[in-house]
Amino acid sequence: MPTHDEQATARNNALMQRALRCIPGGVNSPVRAFGAVGGTPPFIARASGAYVWDAEGRRYIDYIGSWGPAILGHTHPAVLEAVCAAAREGFSFGAPTEREIELAEEICRLMPSMEQVRLVSSGTEACMSAIRLARGATGRKLIVKFEGCYHGHADALLVKAGSGLATFGQPTSAGVPPEVTQHTLTLPYNGVAELEAAFAQHGADIACLIMEPIGGNMNFVRASVEFTRRARELCTAHGALLIYDEVMTGFRVALGGAQSVYARAIPGFVPDLTVLGKVVGGGMPLAAFGGRRAVMEQLAPLGPVYQAGTLSGNPLATACGLATLREIQREGFHDELAARTHRLLDGLMREAKNAGVPLTADCEGGLFGYFLLPELPRNYEEVARSNAQQFARLFHSLLARGVYTAPSLYEAGFVSAAHTDADIDATLHAAAQALRAL
Ligand SMILES: *Cc1c(COP(=O)(O)O)cnc(C)c1O
Repeated sequence: MPTHDEQATARNNALMQRALRCIPGGVNSPVRAFGAVGGTPPFIARASGAYVWDAEGRRYIDYIGSWGPAILGHTHPAVLEAVCAAAREGFSFGAPTEREIELAEEICRLMPSMEQVRLVSSGTEACMSAIRLARGATGRKLIVKFEGCYHGHADALLVKAGSGLATFGQPTSAGVPPEVTQHTLTLPYNGVAELEAAFAQHGADIACLIMEPIGGNMNFVRASVEFTRRARELCTAHGALLIYDEVMTGFRVALGGAQSVYARAIPGFVPDLTVLGKVVGGGMPLAAFGGRRAVMEQLAPLGPVYQAGTLSGNPLATACGLATLREIQREGFHDELAARTHRLLDGLMREAKNAGVPLTADCEGGLFGYFLLPELPRNYEEVARSNAQQFARLFHSLLARGVYTAPSLYEAGFVSAAHTDADIDATLHAAAQALRAL
């Protein structure tokens, strides 16, 4: 397998050797280590617009975008200005600020299902808090989640399906006792029959169902309209809360998030709680959870559900998020983003066809996925049928040609407003060569 090492320069390797001595695996989040594709990751020195540059000065067209936040491209001038101005006023106060209100108002206006919102510092923290709130508000224990959906790394969510239908989950990480995941029921994504069965058996004990409305952590897998509708109906019928984890999809697939996309197909559709992250912080550590007022008012200091954070609502992060949300409200922003993403995927499918490589792709707004499969997968198990070796070869081939994509076939791709038609064309030129080399 040709790895990036063959083209990469000594400096990235030297940095990795140094990192390995003081940081476990050399990285601060596992996917960055290139474990699934092999080779040494480029160490990123700076970024601007649609590009990142590594420690050797090599430029890449960036389709990771910090895993989602960089919807405007990197270091957008208006956002940079807002963050610099905020920095001059102080880094953190641990006290209420007007900017927090402005961001909360903006979020609630753009996502009308959120009547109130609380700001936190990571998607993990937001999901963990939303689940505690759902359990506190309903007085129930069980959580329903779906295989292939990621909701951060809180203990109760690091779980995979048990061996049979409606059995409780097994921990997927050492350090998580089975007792902690025994209240988490993991079902197949898009599995309507399994969902019906789970609610028939456990409905009265289910506090919440948490889902990614478009699976963005098993590459890109859309929830069917029927699945989405039944999830809403079953939660309502059994008094469970429906939590939409829009950390990845929020403000990226549409201004109103994936929930606005489904609301077009299902009149009146809304989740009870929504979790946001990534774009909402514009690249700063900021996330949020919110929803119906009556539920949100169960949180401390009003209610009995405890939740807190020293850096929550941090003034630099709120400045960055607010400036980002203002920019994406420009007329036609998401239509242009979607058109650019379609152009990329149409070109990719065309080049794959020319090269005789089976490839399918799907996208919504600025989020996309492509698969070395003849048909689009509907759940994690189908995604896992992809040829991992072929994927790794394609990945390294693209990287060597200056195209930076996710180093795992279970990750989605991200297009920003800074990607130009010329960037897409250059990407397709590289992809044509890489696909032929397969
Ligand atoms: C990224 C992500 C998270 C976790 O967010 P962090 O900020 O990395 O903790 C949770 N849910 C989804 C859907 C995500 O994509």
